[in-house]
Amino acid sequence: MYTLSILGPPGAGKGTLARHLCAALDLTHLSTGDLLRRLAREESPRGAAFRHYIAEGIAPPDELIMPVVLETLAVCGGPYERVLLDGFPRTLAQAQALDAALDAANAALARVFYVYISPQEAIARLLYRWNCIQCAASYTFPNGTAEDQGCTRCGGKLERRWGDGNPDILNARRQVFYDDTGPVLDYYERRGKLGQLNGELPEAEVSALALNLLAA
Ligand code: AMP
Repeated sequence: MYTLSILGPPGAGKGTLARHLCAALDLTHLSTGDLLRRLAREESPRGAAFRHYIAEGIAPPDELIMPVVLETLAVCGGPYERVLLDGFPRTLAQAQALDAALDAANAALARVFYVYISPQEAIARLLYRWNCIQCAASYTFPNGTAEDQGCTRCGGKLERRWGDGNPDILNARRQVFYDDTGPVLDYYERRGKLGQLNGELPEAEVSALALNLLAA
């Protein structure tokens, strides 16, 4: 099993880097944000619970997240042998649970990338961001709405993610990232697993730097 993780505040470009690395390294992309948005569309008590958290802009508790992530990750074999985690683990408890699950499968995270970005640049990106609900491709529409435009990649409908477009909410989401995930960054730094990447560089450069870190 070969597992990587990408962490970073909203707007840092985790999804874009994930797509580059998955193509270059033949990895399966597992974004917990995309997974939660997909589960929230289910007509079931679990779907309703995730809808509630997403509508309120609150991260679902670890007890709700861990089972679906581990189930999807299929740590003990299955189709996710080479996986790139995007936005996970987000809390120290998730990191410890992931390590325990990987340990039990005789595996370990190969590397954790932290993509950093200034608040100004992140807000400039997210104010006009729209995402495809099917493939998560992201688009920028600075001059208006994307309501009647479809995804040029897969034809899916475009939507705005919770709080994109509202600077106050974006600042709050960024703060939640540092509060919840700061300890995770320290945890992997202490274990020599953390690689830091400047998310403001052109996307091809960010992924080249990530590949260099993996080869080092
Ligand atoms: P993202 O697409 O990574 O920006 O995530 C969107 C939202 O999904 C976040 O604001 C959280 O509410 C939730 N989320 C994503 N990953 C996790 C995670 N590992 N644990 C808890 N909530 C998460």
